[in-house]
Amino acid sequence: MYTFSRAIYRELCAEIVEDSVEQPHANHERVLRACEAAVERLATDRHYFARPARSLFADIRIYFPLTAQGRVWRVVERYMTFADEFLRNQEPSGFDINGNPVQCRASTRKGTQCQRTPLPHNGYCPSHQHLAETEELHEYEQLEAA
Ligand SMILES: [Zn+2]
Repeated sequence: MYTFSRAIYRELCAEIVEDSVEQPHANHERVLRACEAAVERLATDRHYFARPARSLFADIRIYFPLTAQGRVWRVVERYMTFADEFLRNQEPSGFDINGNPVQCRASTRKGTQCQRTPLPHNGYCPSHQHLAETEELHEYEQLEAA
């Protein structure tokens, strides 16, 4: 996922304004961290992150000169849109945000992990749905016993 935050940073880093001689890269660091935080939030909380590009732009625009604002906005909007599309495409394809395939949580009779693609709401594939039900029942029984 950090491909996107690094790309934003790389496109913009030449225009970052540094106001401190003692810490010449402080603002570079802040811009990079803000980009990472925005992309991470997009990856983990996409459904509740309204206007991600606008939010990131608001966070980092103070580190750029007035003349660069338009370009900063275009870069932020372009890459946050890429990131959003990337994440949206990940969801039904059976890969998590780190690019690892998601697998059913059940084990087969041979003791190996079930290789089938799970349903998103409980992590079991269609043929192991009964395990999700017994798991819920089990949790309920433990709550009752406690
Ligand atoms: Zn399964």
